[in-house]
Amino acid sequence: MSGTVIPGTPIAVDFWSVRRAGGARLFFLSHMHSDHTVGLSSTWNRPLYCSPLTARLLHRRLQVPTCWIRPLEVGQSHILGEEVTVTLLDSNHCPGSVMFLFEGTFGTILYTGDFRYTSTMQGEPVLRGRHIDRLYLDNTHCHPQRPLPSRQHATHQAAHIIRTHPRHQVVIGVYSLGKEMLLVDLAVEFSTWVVVSPWRLEQMRLLELPDVFTTEEGAGWIRAVDVAEIRWDTLVSWNMLHPTIAILPTGRPVKVTHPNIHPIPYSDHSSFSELCEFVKWLKPCSVIPIVKGGMCQAYFQEYLSSAPPALPDLRVLKPVQESVQQQSKRNRQGPKCLLKRAVWHSTPRGVVYESPEKYPEKSEEFRGVEVPQQIYCESAFCLTEGCSCHMGKEKGKEELSGEQPGVARAASTVSQAPVSDEHFPTGFAEQYLLTPLNVLKQNSSQKFDKLVNGWEK
Ligand SMILES: [Zn+2]
Ligand SMILES: [Zn+2]
Repeated sequence: MSGTVIPGTPIAVDFWSVRRAGGARLFFLSHMHSDHTVGLSSTWNRPLYCSPLTARLLHRRLQVPTCWIRPLEVGQSHILGEEVTVTLLDSNHCPGSVMFLFEGTFGTILYTGDFRYTSTMQGEPVLRGRHIDRLYLDNTHCHPQRPLPSRQHATHQAAHIIRTHPRHQVVIGVYSLGKEMLLVDLAVEFSTWVVVSPWRLEQMRLLELPDVFTTEEGAGWIRAVDVAEIRWDTLVSWNMLHPTIAILPTGRPVKVTHPNIHPIPYSDHSSFSELCEFVKWLKPCSVIPIVKGGMCQAYFQEYLSSAPPALPDLRVLKPVQESVQQQSKRNRQGPKCLLKRAVWHSTPRGVVYESPEKYPEKSEEFRGVEVPQQIYCESAFCLTEGCSCHMGKEKGKEELSGEQPGVARAASTVSQAPVSDEHFPTGFAEQYLLTPLNVLKQNSSQKFDKLVNGWEK
């Protein structure tokens, strides 16, 4: 469970227990990995903010009613009620994933969610030169002794393994979302189709990925399967039919239980050196780890800003009104969207839809609110008038006022309307996508958990 209620704000990110959320009234979803949606279901009945792509997946997968889903354009600033301005930024983690930049009387907070840092993030105008009071950081790989190569380098490693097994079929273990570009890159590299389940094919199409996927068994010699299928007994049975190797893309250490299982260090989370580069560049006043139990702050102490941080506003806040969107100068290209890179196309293939498959996915226990530890820069909390929290607010107002007020008014009516069913294309395989995940998850991954500890999402 990776959710947080941000102290001193009405904000909850990836946190779906209203009862435990205290005063939180604005709910945000960073992306659709299952450890970030624990507690989200068809019974959810509050406005929920996320990226447009996550909005589509959310309705399809978890049946959250469309009337509560508020997709917010990535790269734009949105004013929610009178208290919070939020800007969504591509987090380079999986399709639809975003970071949230929150601004209000509580100061300026960047919540990275799960993210893979790239230096192009430094070109993001909304972040450049910005005073960040609190940085909630994806500390999944905050271990200096555990280096990680780039995804491009890890893809080369996978290709090398495949090349050295010319007579083997290849099975790649992935979750329901993420690592799509690895599959696309390998398909292109080896000029083969990637065989997937009907459920996954429909999702690839929903994500508008290049047409390298098929459900036709035997059409290609690379197959993408759920990670839970990569285990000793399945490897044994696959190899009785045909020599088969399995590739496990993960940044975490795994226990290899069969000689034909090959882990590769392909991760959608930032490496330790990338985290350092990011924090050094951003110079926040404080760093708060998102993954509970991770003690990473000490590594970043030397990079923190010495400017006084804003004090969290612990007063009882007014009820938040419906979303009002304001277009600002921040409407710009964010870091290049993963999907935008997907321009490779080939001849479309016919698709045979079969009966829905059982779709196992690791579920994680819900643990409730834990206020993470945080450290602040050396200066004491600001307690006087004119400190950065007040100045930050005025600065924010200045930036947002006087910029295309007409556009802002027009845009507000758009965002006040909840996402409608019209936004969700219907198709042959809707039956698969509308099957609740908890039904699809009937196959327990317990066996797999014994073999592989700590898979990342
Ligand atoms: Zn994730
Ligand atoms: Zn995660």
